Amino acid sequence: SKIDSRCEVESHVGTHLIHVDPTHDRAYENSRKNGLPTIAVSPAQGKLTSLLVALSGARNVLEIGTLGGYSSIWLARGLQGRGKVTSLEVNPHHRDVAIENMRHAGVKVPEDVEVLLGAGLDVLPKLAQEIKDGKREAFDFVFVDADWDNQWNYFDWGVKLSRGAGSTIYVDNAVLEMLESGIVGPEKRRDDAVDLVKMVGEDSRVEATVLQTVGAKSFDGFLIAVVK
Ligand code: SAM
Repeated sequence: SKIDSRCEVESHVGTHLIHVDPTHDRAYENSRKNGLPTIAVSPAQGKLTSLLVALSGARNVLEIGTLGGYSSIWLARGLQGRGKVTSLEVNPHHRDVAIENMRHAGVKVPEDVEVLLGAGLDVLPKLAQEIKDGKREAFDFVFVDADWDNQWNYFDWGVKLSRGAGSTIYVDNAVLEMLESGIVGPEKRRDDAVDLVKMVGEDSRVEATVLQTVGAKSFDGFLIAVVK
């Protein structure tokens, strides 16, 4: 049949390639029913992160921004039982809905995904201390998808908490906020988004790129960096 819009491409890809199982797909609807904002990753992007986790052979994934656990389930699926996801969420209601969604999808909490409640910038130093004390392993895949005010800080913590060479840092929404026509942005956000790319580019700890994306939702992009 004829395909002539990016929405139809997304739906064609969704039908034939993504294969979200119904227990996972329910996380979207159940989150919406529970009043969570509809800002989870798309199925195609969720699957990309899952494939990247599988490709990189990561064992310890750090996610900043759980929401209803939709992306956490993708990350956990990518681990294929090799390790676990540690996901940070500031909002207790989001955390509760996420745990319910994950359990419904057959993801064990906290064995497969541990959700830590608190503001990222409060929890990340604690994780650093635990890694230093040998109570926790360093991370080899970091997925940043929380508040824009701290994207650079989360990136920086991601590198600091990483196992080292070969670890991956993935930052969502790295393009939309940069645009003059971005849908959400006060000016500071645009400046932050523009600066994130500059600062990562000057960061000798990583090699990175940004890929712009289109999908049913909008035009956006992500930043991906590998620790040297
Ligand atoms: N990764 C999720 C997904 O794709 O299914 C979407 C995450 S949503 C874009 C951002 C989440 O980050 C929200 O649930 C929000 O409550 C949380 N958040 C916002 N500020 C935060 C902070 N300072 N620390 C931790 N989480 C935060």
